Amino acid sequence: MEEYLKQLNESQREAVVYTEGPSLVIAGAGSGKTRVLTYKIAYLLQQGLPPWSILALTFTNKAAREMKERIATLTDEQTARRLWMGTFHSLFSRILRNEAEHIGYPSNFTIYDATDSKSLLRSIMKEMQLDDKVYRPGMIQSRISNAKNALVTWKAYEQNKELVQHDMDSKVPLVREIYKRYQNRCLQAGAMDFDDLLLQTNILFRDHPDVLEKYRSFFRFVLVDEYQDTNFAQHLIVQRLCETHRRICVVGDDAQSIYSFRGANIDNILQFKNQYPGCRIFKLERNYRSTQNIVNAANSLIHKNTKQIQKTVYSEKEEGNKVSVLASYSDYEEGYAVAGKINDMRMRNYDYADFAILYRTNAQSRILEEALRKRGIPYKIYGGLSFYQRKEVKDVISYLRLIINPHDEEAFKRVINYPARGIGETTLGKLTAAATEHNVSLWTVLNDPIGYALQINSGTAKKLGDFREMIAGFIERNDKLSAEEMASAVVKESGIVSTLFQDRSVEGISKQENLQELLKGIAEFCEIRREEGAEHVSLADFLSEVSLLTDQDNDKDEQANKVTMMTVHAAKGLEFKNVFVVGLEEDLFPSSMSKDNPRAVEEERRLFYVAITRAEENCMLTYAKSRYRNGQSAMCSPSRFLRDIDTKYLHMPENTAATDSSAASRERFERPSAFASPFQQPKAVERETYVSPVAQAVQRQSRLTKVETAAASPSSAPASDLSGLYVGAKVRHDRFGEGEVTAIEGDGGNAKATVAFTHFGQKQLLLKFARLTIV
Ligand code: ATP
Ligand code: MG
Repeated sequence: MEEYLKQLNESQREAVVYTEGPSLVIAGAGSGKTRVLTYKIAYLLQQGLPPWSILALTFTNKAAREMKERIATLTDEQTARRLWMGTFHSLFSRILRNEAEHIGYPSNFTIYDATDSKSLLRSIMKEMQLDDKVYRPGMIQSRISNAKNALVTWKAYEQNKELVQHDMDSKVPLVREIYKRYQNRCLQAGAMDFDDLLLQTNILFRDHPDVLEKYRSFFRFVLVDEYQDTNFAQHLIVQRLCETHRRICVVGDDAQSIYSFRGANIDNILQFKNQYPGCRIFKLERNYRSTQNIVNAANSLIHKNTKQIQKTVYSEKEEGNKVSVLASYSDYEEGYAVAGKINDMRMRNYDYADFAILYRTNAQSRILEEALRKRGIPYKIYGGLSFYQRKEVKDVISYLRLIINPHDEEAFKRVINYPARGIGETTLGKLTAAATEHNVSLWTVLNDPIGYALQINSGTAKKLGDFREMIAGFIERNDKLSAEEMASAVVKESGIVSTLFQDRSVEGISKQENLQELLKGIAEFCEIRREEGAEHVSLADFLSEVSLLTDQDNDKDEQANKVTMMTVHAAKGLEFKNVFVVGLEEDLFPSSMSKDNPRAVEEERRLFYVAITRAEENCMLTYAKSRYRNGQSAMCSPSRFLRDIDTKYLHMPENTAATDSSAASRERFERPSAFASPFQQPKAVERETYVSPVAQAVQRQSRLTKVETAAASPSSAPASDLSGLYVGAKVRHDRFGEGEVTAIEGDGGNAKATVAFTHFGQKQLLLKFARLTIV
């Protein structure tokens, strides 16, 4: 047997060497599905298939890169590079560029990212004079996106009674009109958004059988990772390509289907065997990633879902540590607890890169970042505002986009008056109105202001003329210059460099650094391409790559020894030695939007399953009892999902020792933290003494570093005169809400009351600090 096949277990090997017909590998997390796909590609190459005839679709660019690297070690680098391997979006955008003429787009079409689309939607809605509180841009964007992913074009949308009725019912009857204008404007600008890449590929294959046939015979084997998260548009592309030759292998796990909000359809994997009769199904049962405790904890959780394919997943690794649950009083403290824990664990031979912090929403990252920064822990963030979305970077990119495709409306709008050249909103408004009226691009109007009867004075005409000349000049030189040379000419000649370098503020300097980083990135890109044998590396080459980076890609410092921070969604398919899943609270995880919908809760549970199963050695789940959201601090209760995990795999310290009291006490957020079990709350919190922030200040003044916590054996001493409290009084506390006084003890400055709070259980409070009011 070939050496590399020995690196697989029996069932994995069977799945790898089966190439006679369609096959499906359906198995739990960490069981080697991606490994099977990788080795299968190596196997196909070994069987003589040329690399370019293999189409391998991954969920992220990062996954594709990792797979390529692995295949390079199994074969060689040249071969790995020639594979058609990448995300649906990146591979099919390549095909669309080759075939653009068939669908009425230029081959240098721009790819609009989510910000561009939203900005375009905003201008359209403004032109239609729609109220953006009713027509919320995000909501409109997702309706259009959903439609596209279901392959509903604007024309079909208009005629679809159900969709139109749905819009009427939700008081946004004009979505169809917005969709129509949006699509028209994209076409005008020679731009496609991310969803268009899939929609247009389908249109191309549907309407041009000869083109489809060409790719069908070109791609002799198709492989798809994470098949459970394909949407209808993706599913259909794959089906079209494989219908006749049926050389397809998909792998996935229904328990990890987490993208239904983007139109992913779990039925694609469930129906696979019906679609490809006679297909072989392979199951993998052994998890190679995680310790037994982690695997068992994850299994016990996912079994709470009613809809799932029954699977066995076991680990033969050591039993390992139990999954631990950490509670904190606040989101700040949660951050400090995590940072403290990372520091502690680093003492035990872990690198920063061995840690990942996973959260449900990007908004949670800020506080965590702050805590890591204060501890000097290096980190990298995936998602959120990526490098290429930063204003100063996007401004430069917009110039570059305009050089490749001057009709690009969003790029045009960004740079027409940046750096400031005296072309104001009014002029831009006139340009836009003329463009809309004549159904042409802004650039077309700019090239013939008189022809389009633009009402502008001679000063403005001169400024517009200068701008046009500058861009036209860049376009002319672009053929001869490399991406690197072009970019450096642009930043200098447009005035960006001199504008940015005037600003000596901290923000200004950081913008300059970002600009330099961008130029460096372009130079590196050119260098790599040249190493790969390219003679001329054009701006178009660079842009087609950059515009496909998604919020799940962070190509910068990928290798660096840093803690990884990302949403659970972005962590799919990845693995880390130590994983923190933070913010396990009701209304956050599961999200508030899903809590009343059992199907949505099941998806959230799958998401939590994905989170836990990323961990190889240690998995730590944290929640805070209060969290700052929407401008105020709100109480939170532990996530229901914590109760779904079998307690025998959990470790829930009951003591109230601060997770990181030494650090916390140095910080502003000096609240005693606690490890507390969500199930034994009253017991765990009995011993706590809550100290309000004001009280902390008082304590510091009086050099009081520690608040006495009395034993939880309150006597029924009479109320002190001062407080006016009595046993049985109903009181309100501004953090814990309402409760009833069950005991009072001590007097004067030491008077303490024990209060049974409705939502927080029993707590003992030092009266001179606690602001209790009798209700
Ligand atoms: P997920 O569902 O999370 O995507 P997966 O099923 O794709 O997981 P892989 O990522 O392929 O699983 O494998 C999990 C880990 O186990 C990887 O580190 C992989 O290299 C390792 N692994 C898988 N199979 C074997 C094996 N037979 N021998 C050694 N290591 C293995
Ligand atoms: Mg995988």
